[in-house]
Amino acid sequence: METFSGNLVAAALVVDAKSTVLQLKQYKLCKYCLERHTDTGRVKPDRPCYICRGLMDSLDSIMDRIMAAVQDYEFDTFVVGATLPTQIYEREDAMRARLKIRGRESIKNHLTRELGTRLVWLTKRKADYMKPDITISLAVDKENNVDVAVKSRPVALAGRYVKKSRGLPQKQDKCPHCEGKGCDSCNNSGLSGYASVEGIIAKELMAVTKGQAPKFSWIGSEDQKSLVLGSGRPFSVRVFDPKKRELKKVRVKGNGVSATMSMHEDILEPQARFTVKTRIHTRCASPLTKQDLKKLNSLAGSDVSFENRSRIATKRIYSARARQLGSNEFTLTITADGGLMIKQFVGGEEYMKPNISEILGNKCECVTFDILDVELQ
Ligand SMILES: [Zn+2]
Ligand SMILES: [Zn+2]
Repeated sequence: METFSGNLVAAALVVDAKSTVLQLKQYKLCKYCLERHTDTGRVKPDRPCYICRGLMDSLDSIMDRIMAAVQDYEFDTFVVGATLPTQIYEREDAMRARLKIRGRESIKNHLTRELGTRLVWLTKRKADYMKPDITISLAVDKENNVDVAVKSRPVALAGRYVKKSRGLPQKQDKCPHCEGKGCDSCNNSGLSGYASVEGIIAKELMAVTKGQAPKFSWIGSEDQKSLVLGSGRPFSVRVFDPKKRELKKVRVKGNGVSATMSMHEDILEPQARFTVKTRIHTRCASPLTKQDLKKLNSLAGSDVSFENRSRIATKRIYSARARQLGSNEFTLTITADGGLMIKQFVGGEEYMKPNISEILGNKCECVTFDILDVELQ
């Protein structure tokens, strides 16, 4: 019984395939568009193709353009995507509806699959749909003009920077023309210039990766006048559309800034907990007493609270050591939770409790503060 009905189904399939082949002959189809609709190779291809109008026959020239577009990129994996004019889908759908053909591959899939297979063959690289190093996008218009564009997945690096001369800000303003996206007038950096820690590192990263618009994530910040010493301040950065992505270590040196970065899977969490060792140079209105230094040293172990975006934030001071410089000046070296605003902590103008001016009963101001070390928790 089972064999009998099985045979029937098989017979029906043969008849179906034959009649489809017969019906397909009503349409002029190229080799590829035929292959997509029949499993037998008994129909001769024809031109111009009813469905693709020659698009599939231009695979060789599209492939040449893809090879030219990817030649500057370092990549192990790729994906090919395409947008085709709706007219192609409409013709294919109309034919399929009339001949009752179902469950066949779409022309877009066929096109990108053919190109992908050739690219694997020509470059020995692999296709990867989840996380490709490069994405090749084809845009086909109504006249079958093909535009080929390549974009690479951003590379992420993490590292630390040290700043040994005063006067350089940490951040760079965005390019006013593109708001940071990257344009011709900023050489695709997205920045207004290179006179900052950000600018110096960004410039070098762009040169090394041939990429654009680096986006930084800093673990804390300092003043323009501050030094950053010790092992430096951690940061991570993503560079967009890099041509070179097989980087091991990147070193940057210039204008008193030095940074070392290595490849990282992802960017650092900007909310990461960290502690900072800071040396605060302070000047007071009235002369200091011995008792004052003792009061400052006793800050170790205390919590500083302040209002931050209408919420009360608390930062702990783990250690404190004061050293007198002159009658009205001292340095205070503290290790505290990251995010403690040093100038406000000294001046006490804004609500911050305790603060140095209040503890000493003396009007104090922060001359400079230097970052001696930053430790990620
Ligand atoms: Zn065709
Ligand atoms: Zn710009």
